[in-house]
Amino acid sequence: MPAHMLQEISGSYSTSTTITAPPSGSLQNEREKQKTVPQYLEEDIRPEMKEDIYDPSYQDEEGPPPKLQYVWRNIILMALLHLAALYGITLIPSCKLYTCLFAIMSYYFSGLGITAGAHRLWSHRTYKARLPLRLFLILANTMAFQNDVYEWSRDHRAHHKFTETHADPHNSRRGFFFSHVGWLLVRKHPAVKEKGGKLDMSDLKADKLVMFQRRYYLPGLLLMCFILPTLVPWYYWGETFVNSLYVCAFLRYAVVLNSTWLVNSAAHLYGYRPYNKDIEPRENILVSLGAVGEGFHNYHHTFPYDYSTSEYGWYVNFTTFFIDCMAALGLAYDRKKVSKAAVLARIKRTGDGSHKSS
Ligand SMILES: [Zn+2]
Ligand SMILES: [Zn+2]
Repeated sequence: MPAHMLQEISGSYSTSTTITAPPSGSLQNEREKQKTVPQYLEEDIRPEMKEDIYDPSYQDEEGPPPKLQYVWRNIILMALLHLAALYGITLIPSCKLYTCLFAIMSYYFSGLGITAGAHRLWSHRTYKARLPLRLFLILANTMAFQNDVYEWSRDHRAHHKFTETHADPHNSRRGFFFSHVGWLLVRKHPAVKEKGGKLDMSDLKADKLVMFQRRYYLPGLLLMCFILPTLVPWYYWGETFVNSLYVCAFLRYAVVLNSTWLVNSAAHLYGYRPYNKDIEPRENILVSLGAVGEGFHNYHHTFPYDYSTSEYGWYVNFTTFFIDCMAALGLAYDRKKVSKAAVLARIKRTGDGSHKSS
């Protein structure tokens, strides 16, 4: 019987009891016992956090598909943003070189606010950061405007713990469009509210910087995402107001949004599963390119406590490069990394055979 089925039957990922144990202590029995060891115990390198570990005991109830309740305000705002971004593309040829460089820089800056900040630092606690780096990341995160860090992390922990069920906010079983952007345009499924509301978020509630951002989120995002990126090129090198607004604010914002969303849509649908063939998340290099390192998604869901979200270090992974640079400066520390041996063992046990070591 495959390990994941035994885990499902045992009904809990917090114990290592074997439910099929025959009375004798045979070698077979020992092997079965090893198979039922919960996923996180095989490499418990981050004992302080368990809320992002997959819980196979939670499954959807049988029944008709959920009814969609549209949130028209979000639908209209998203449509307008994407129209503005398309118009922004047509303005690129008339932009000054500095404006283009500034837009690209803002893309990486706000991208890191999601990947190195909301994702790897605050949602998964895969490394620790000193105050100057946390300040940098909270500003960058506010520029990315993808909900505040607290809400983003709660959604993201639910996404890992209840992957591909109705309690997963962007459940990829509901299709590409839903997992990409549709989930933001309809009311949350009741299961998301119920299970997400029970997650332990005490670490972030105790984080003063995260709570400060949450309290002042609206003025913060207006300033960081729209006002500042428009004023800087206009004031400092005489770019036109329209070019600054449509390229550095709207277009840059829409590109970062879609890059992040591709992790939830494309990286759950297209690619190989070398580490765990029993889950949907996949390895997708193109997504990694756009999402500054977050496309190694089969690895990431298999080992959510690894700060690199990939086996391959800096390879197509600007975020890991950035965190390592911060570590060299003494601003990041305690980076959690899964051992090579544990990765290889996992590939052998649950991989789809596409890994070069297979
Ligand atoms: Zn994650
Ligand atoms: Zn995912």
